[in-house]
Amino acid sequence: MSIHQEIGRRRTFAIISHPDAGKTTLTEKLLLFGGAIQTAGAVKSNKIKKSATSDFMEIEKQRGISVATSVMTFHYNDLKINILDTPGHKDFAEDTYRTLTAVDSVILVIDCVKGVEEQTERLMEVCRMRDTPVIIFVNKLDREGKNPFDLLDELEEKLNIRVRPLTWPVNMGSDFKGVYSLYEKKLYFFKVNKTKVEDDVLPIDLDGTLLDEKLGARDAAQLREDVELIEGVYDPFDPDTYRAGQLAPVFFGSAVNNFGVKELLDTFCEISPEPISRPTDKRVVNPDEKNFSGFIFKIHANLDPRHRDRIAFLRICSGKFERNKFYHHTRLDKDVRFASPFSFMADSKSLVEEGFPGDVVGLYDTGTFKIGDTLTEGEELQFQGIPSFSPEIFKELINTDPMKSKQLEKGIQQLTDEGVAQLFTLSVGNRKIVGTVGDLQFDVIQYRLEHEYGAKCRWVPMNISRACWITSDDKKKLNEFIRLKGLQIAYDKDQNPVFLADSDWMLRMNRDNNPDIKFHLTSEFK
Ligand code: GDP
Repeated sequence: MSIHQEIGRRRTFAIISHPDAGKTTLTEKLLLFGGAIQTAGAVKSNKIKKSATSDFMEIEKQRGISVATSVMTFHYNDLKINILDTPGHKDFAEDTYRTLTAVDSVILVIDCVKGVEEQTERLMEVCRMRDTPVIIFVNKLDREGKNPFDLLDELEEKLNIRVRPLTWPVNMGSDFKGVYSLYEKKLYFFKVNKTKVEDDVLPIDLDGTLLDEKLGARDAAQLREDVELIEGVYDPFDPDTYRAGQLAPVFFGSAVNNFGVKELLDTFCEISPEPISRPTDKRVVNPDEKNFSGFIFKIHANLDPRHRDRIAFLRICSGKFERNKFYHHTRLDKDVRFASPFSFMADSKSLVEEGFPGDVVGLYDTGTFKIGDTLTEGEELQFQGIPSFSPEIFKELINTDPMKSKQLEKGIQQLTDEGVAQLFTLSVGNRKIVGTVGDLQFDVIQYRLEHEYGAKCRWVPMNISRACWITSDDKKKLNEFIRLKGLQIAYDKDQNPVFLADSDWMLRMNRDNNPDIKFHLTSEFK
């Protein structure tokens, strides 16, 4: 197969949702269609059920599950489909943001009863930043949900994207009869039967009498009216506008009943983008280039404390990746090779000899990788689009076992390389500040420092609400600002200066008073 064919048959995407909207259920149904799993219930939900912060067994279990389900690959209609898993818990949102940098498109699941929830909005913001194409699946139609027209308005308004329904429900809840495909002009009948894969489907002429026979006069009339309204209000669906990230097609269904899922998958296969070009600090890299390139978007610690090596997840962006070939690690300016790279098939790992754009390869790592690292065949470039966002909670890391300060130092460096949290070092006194998006991470770090590195620590909350990366065209002014601000200046892991503000008000004041200094809420800026 040529590289063009290899690229053309790959689809790499993530399913995202607010917890409980049905991401795990939908994933499982897709895998069933692809034959990657045989029974329902095979995909474990990767969420931490308890909000309790001290349930470490739960955290460990979660880490185990999330390795197994990190990448789920299946074959369907000659396509090789890679689903990248994202953690549902909001305290791990940064993990999700990073995974979104490694996909080419997204399926967003919405609960029709709850509509657009807070976490959905934030996830969509990240998709909008990169113009990632999004398909929306409105789930749980077997429940009494919001009016579908109201839902569409809510989607457009809260997610800041134009939508276009491709299927349309006939009623909801106990009265739910099925969906009409505006695209195929077919009616899919809903039957409550959880094991069935095929649905009853009928090509239908909206103006014919068959519709009245099948749905009854009232529902038939309502469907005709709805379809007329949709066709009048929404432009015809344009796949290119979707692939440009400007328009989200919407499907309705019920994942747990396997209803509407096949239409979703078939349409996804037809319209979703194959591996796309990606920006670097030097130029745009196209997938069909001869030379291999890729980047690390996720690092996972080994669960076995006796084997400290980690798993780095490499997204292949161009060319062909080969086992045992030397590649250039651009940040370290050094050549590295991998004797046992592996792929993720269902829940088993298998050695891979080669990989193509869109694929994700697991690499054993003994500490050479940080998130965002780039591998090439020699060219000096760095993939873009994996920014760090300003954390929301900040605590100082205090060593409580002076005999183990080396272990603590190494542990916190490695855990923050993995992206568990961000580390800032105060310019004064070398004090270490850890920043996260959720409180749970502090417990995870403390637990892992003790169990994996034998180091003990405690946390002291800091009165900081934002970390802003600071730059200036005038080096002297920047140095002056850094000198004046003393304790409010820290350095990130790459030695970039960061201003720690205790409130938005303070940030605004400093911005106003220092017009020569630029304040950035993400680490990636030009
Ligand atoms: P996740 O947190 O987004 O992964 O959500 P899950 O897939 O774990 O689903 C959350 C709950 O919603 C589970 O109890 C599912 O059985 C249920 N669920 C999923 N899809 C549907 C559906 O179509 N209808 C109904 N009534 N429940 C559903």
